[in-house]
Amino acid sequence: MIPLMHPALVRTQAFINGDWYSAVSQKTFAVNNPATGELIAQVADLSSLDAQHAIESAAIAQPVWAQKTAKERSILLRRWFDLVMENQADLAQILTAEQGKPIAESMAEIAYGASYIEWFAEQAKRINGDIIPPSRSNQRISVLQQPVGVVATITPWNFPNAMLARKLAPALAAGCTVVAKPAAETPFSALALAQLAQQAGIPAGVINIVTSSDAPAIGAEFTGHPAVRKISFTGSTAVGKLLIQQCAADVKRITLELGGNAPFIVFDDADIDAAVAGAMVAKFRNAGQTCVCANRFYVQRSIYNAFSAKLSAAMQELCVGNGVNEQVSVGPLISAAAIQKVQQLVDDAIAKGAVVSCQIPVNIEKGYFYPPTLLTNVSVDSDLLEAEIFGPVAALIPFDTEADVIAQANCSVYGLAAYCYTRDYQRIQRLTEELQTGMLGINTGLISNEMAPFGGIKQSGWGREGSIYGLDDYLNIKYINESF
Ligand code: NAP
Repeated sequence: MIPLMHPALVRTQAFINGDWYSAVSQKTFAVNNPATGELIAQVADLSSLDAQHAIESAAIAQPVWAQKTAKERSILLRRWFDLVMENQADLAQILTAEQGKPIAESMAEIAYGASYIEWFAEQAKRINGDIIPPSRSNQRISVLQQPVGVVATITPWNFPNAMLARKLAPALAAGCTVVAKPAAETPFSALALAQLAQQAGIPAGVINIVTSSDAPAIGAEFTGHPAVRKISFTGSTAVGKLLIQQCAADVKRITLELGGNAPFIVFDDADIDAAVAGAMVAKFRNAGQTCVCANRFYVQRSIYNAFSAKLSAAMQELCVGNGVNEQVSVGPLISAAAIQKVQQLVDDAIAKGAVVSCQIPVNIEKGYFYPPTLLTNVSVDSDLLEAEIFGPVAALIPFDTEADVIAQANCSVYGLAAYCYTRDYQRIQRLTEELQTGMLGINTGLISNEMAPFGGIKQSGWGREGSIYGLDDYLNIKYINESF
């Protein structure tokens, strides 16, 4: 049971065409609390047939939604933002119950997700066309921006509110309607968001939530259905590649927010205390389960021991436990499989020479907890320097020169986020030019906000979310050449 001011915010049915919807098969799947392993509730387990119904509802609603004026859509989005913030505490409780993150982080995620709704409520009114000077005097060249149509979204469990809000808000602002599949581990945040959207007056069929334990079947329906004009996916690079293949058949547009392998570079001229504070945020937020998590710490050799000692000291302040307790700063991982994967990466690093310099003990019998761990002396051929750790494990590698560390940082198939700590202005200019990344934090460990374009290069994905660029993925450009 989740203690809420408005218990009706917890829904166990899917949401299609403005109605709560059970699977035709009447099947359900269990959703458990990762901090306790206990059942939260059984949730409707939709099939591809049910997903078709959701797509058809979104297709009927789309032209009506697009015909609303930009201002009307903006007002409804703004109302939705207000309702989300009014229910922030309840939504945070739901998020912590299904995902495990500390309640303060859940409160922050709700505000973060809502900030995209607010931002795109404003941007909805600024989807302008263009008039271009023609090559002949009896011509007019104009450009219209039109909604792509029905958008299908697939989102992960690590930010079950914000990853969905970051897609729904620009899609709706542009005049698209949405069928959304949340991760099976975390459906409740998505269902609560949809309920508040309905309460805000967003019409039936504009947002549809397809809960299912069969992601491949729903993904195949979304990518294969001709009424879906665009896919927006956040998740692993492996699934992203599969979806690209599936979209190829119909040349369906796709936006991909995929995995990362962020380097966190500390130069010897850095403010070490600030770097440690940044490292704590970039590494241990959400128990290390964020796509922009610092995955590899490169520390210049002359300050390596000092940085390691201070990071180890800061880690002593971490409190691992059930995120509902306010003193907890590190919650559980999402599943037993996640613990196993992190342990494999740590074992591999140790076998290749890494030393466990610090490990915060966890004395909890239930739930999927992993002790925050600091590894030093990490060998450059360790698997965890190539794979996403997705757990509270910091791996430290010493480096000697700027050129060396840039080469090592760029030696990854991913290019999502990178962090650097230095006080040398000219070096900052060089790093800005040379690091292969979609996002770069200089002297900060926290980079996401709704005003900035979030996204990656290389195998970290295609497209950007948030910012003035965030609407582009939901709009078609139509050029008109008018002779008179
Ligand atoms: P995942 O396995 O790729 O799952 C993500 C979503 O895809 C879930 O809804 C999942 O459903 C669904 N899915 C799984 N297999 C599918 C298939 N064959 N067809 C269609 N959908 C499928 O990723 P994850 O491990 O849950 O999430 C962590 C990953 O997300 C990390 O790589 C992280 O870096 C990335 N991420 C990236 C960003 C970004 O903005 N770049 C943000 C957050 C996370 P089920 O869960 O129901 O199986």
